[in-house]
Amino acid sequence: MQNFKSKSLLLNYFKPSIYLESYKKINLNSLKNSGIKLILCDMDNTLIGWNQRIPNNEVINFVKNVYYHNMEFVLFSNNIRSRVENFAKKAGIENYFWDCKKPLLGKMKIIKRLFDYKEEEMILIGDQLVTDILVANRSHIKSILISPISRDVKSNKFVHYIEDKLFKKLAQKNILHEGFYDEGDIGGNYEIL
Ligand SMILES: [Mg+2]
Repeated sequence: MQNFKSKSLLLNYFKPSIYLESYKKINLNSLKNSGIKLILCDMDNTLIGWNQRIPNNEVINFVKNVYYHNMEFVLFSNNIRSRVENFAKKAGIENYFWDCKKPLLGKMKIIKRLFDYKEEEMILIGDQLVTDILVANRSHIKSILISPISRDVKSNKFVHYIEDKLFKKLAQKNILHEGFYDEGDIGGNYEIL
């Protein structure tokens, strides 16, 4: 019984605050009204497919829209400098961090110090439970899980295996069900935050 209980507690580290199909479904007004001032965003498979290099107009407009809502946007990627920097510059993103080693906390601590917002004023958007959602929960900040844009079959087999296992466990415990997004009935109103 003890074992069962502690396992359930661990699984809660993979639970996002909001679960949406895509960054395109994010209601920025609602985030703003919930007191969010800083959006940390993953790059690969969140804003761009693993096999693409250049942000499309939808990404560029999303970033503009975040700034328009007077929120800070920080690209927060585990990928290498050249790829992150090239993408950020083309997308008009001022603040970007590469090699973040999510779910480790090092870069997150630096960002918290640099931007000086409260934890409840920050939210992280990402497509992976084991990196994005875990680092958000370990840092006590909110998170939005979105479904990956494309699946990298070549290099990330291990991560996908773990993600699939996790989704199954989370469903068993009724914590999260893959593909059952939050926006349905509540229409992008984030009073749940
Ligand atoms: Mg990703």
